[in-house]
Amino acid sequence: KGAIVLVPEISLTPQTVRRFKGWFGEQVAVLHSGLSEGERYDAWRMVREGMRRIVIGARSAVFAPVPDLGLIVVDEEHETTYKQYDTSPRYNARDVAVVRMKMSKGVAILGSATPSLESYYNALKGKFVLVRLPERIRGRPLPEVEVVDMRKGRWPFSDLLLEKVRERLERREKVILLQNRRGYAAFVQCPDCGHVFRCPHCRVSLTYHAAGRNLVCHYCGFRKKVPSSCPNCGGVHLRPRGLGTERVEEALERWFPEAEVVRMDLDTTGRKGAHWRLLDRFWSEGDVLLGTQMVAKGLDYPEVTLVGVVSADVSLSLPDFRAGERTFQLLTQVAGRTGRGDLPGEVVIQTYSPKERAIRFAVNHDFEGYAEEELRERKALGYPPFKRLLLIRFRGKEEAEVREVAEMYGEALKSDRIEVLGPAEAPLGRLRGYFRWQVLLKGDHVSLHRAWAEADGRLRPEARRREVTVVPDMDPVGML
Ligand SMILES: [Zn+2]
Ligand SMILES: [Zn+2]
Repeated sequence: KGAIVLVPEISLTPQTVRRFKGWFGEQVAVLHSGLSEGERYDAWRMVREGMRRIVIGARSAVFAPVPDLGLIVVDEEHETTYKQYDTSPRYNARDVAVVRMKMSKGVAILGSATPSLESYYNALKGKFVLVRLPERIRGRPLPEVEVVDMRKGRWPFSDLLLEKVRERLERREKVILLQNRRGYAAFVQCPDCGHVFRCPHCRVSLTYHAAGRNLVCHYCGFRKKVPSSCPNCGGVHLRPRGLGTERVEEALERWFPEAEVVRMDLDTTGRKGAHWRLLDRFWSEGDVLLGTQMVAKGLDYPEVTLVGVVSADVSLSLPDFRAGERTFQLLTQVAGRTGRGDLPGEVVIQTYSPKERAIRFAVNHDFEGYAEEELRERKALGYPPFKRLLLIRFRGKEEAEVREVAEMYGEALKSDRIEVLGPAEAPLGRLRGYFRWQVLLKGDHVSLHRAWAEADGRLRPEARRREVTVVPDMDPVGML
């Protein structure tokens, strides 16, 4: 039988591709976005004719015409890149894999050290079969994780992290430092107690809007002024947060002028192949790899014995009900970059919110404990996997028109089986000359479909007349 292996991003997983080619040689076809039309055509033809029986690729490879398909493996099944959200068809390759294998009576394997709560819940319910791999490869111990409470520390490097980096440099071992990309939306945090402002209705983080010093919920539209003092501790140092990698790099160079620092983020990996040149440099002569989420993924370097998370707070404060889940995944994933050789690994996580669930459980590598608590909260608040979400995006050049169309849809979609959140301005409220609003619906699958079809059938001509584009996204994975 034939097989398809899906990976989140081909360019980030050359080691996986190399291993498969090592085992199966000529039988492997690799499908990725870097192929020209002609190359893609050739690859698909060879797959369809059975000359290549194993396909490795990113999300669209789930549709590869493999004859007599018996298996689809979805590696890192929790990754958001499996969802195509920006153009039609909007699908999640993981869900397509499950449906496709169900139809052809094959097997879908969803693999992850941090499964999505949707998949994990399906396994708990017995819809999927849960297979645990309780031991790390070759029985290596999990890295020791320490959390630094930055309310008592000094930004951007605590004494503990400085000391551990210094140790590694002296021993000629390597360090990975993760600093999340600048939040696309700023948030306000109290540096004295770590308090982050959340929506009283939706529990998601409120986004800071400099104009008017407002805190806004992008789910339901709730807003309030930034108070002059912290409601939790009375501190008066409230300020917007969200720092990029550049400033961390400067500080790093001040502390360790002799260290070879390789910075990896969207700015330095823009050109084709840049990503690999940077990793090669880190591999051959680098001491510290500093970067965004991309340093958390798939790298397998045995000399890395320390991972430092400069600030876990940016990811925790994304205006998304999955912010905690994403943080847990990110911390677990980046922790996994260390201790892969004979030397034991260590992880230091810096945060102003050491009591956050994602951090408490990441310290003990306790996915099941995390999932249990998180699922309980999701159930109470009516978020997936207990209810489905339908995100409706509105986009147009005239703000008033966009808002009014969003309001009409919001009104038309109300029913006793559906909860309507919003309309609210999207987290990226203005993008490339367009104003963007959204309505978020919670409900069961059938009711959502029915309500959408009915409302859209009635309102679409009006939206078109006002030149507002309306796009529905079932099971959204991001709220941008
Ligand atoms: Zn406070
Ligand atoms: Zn809200």
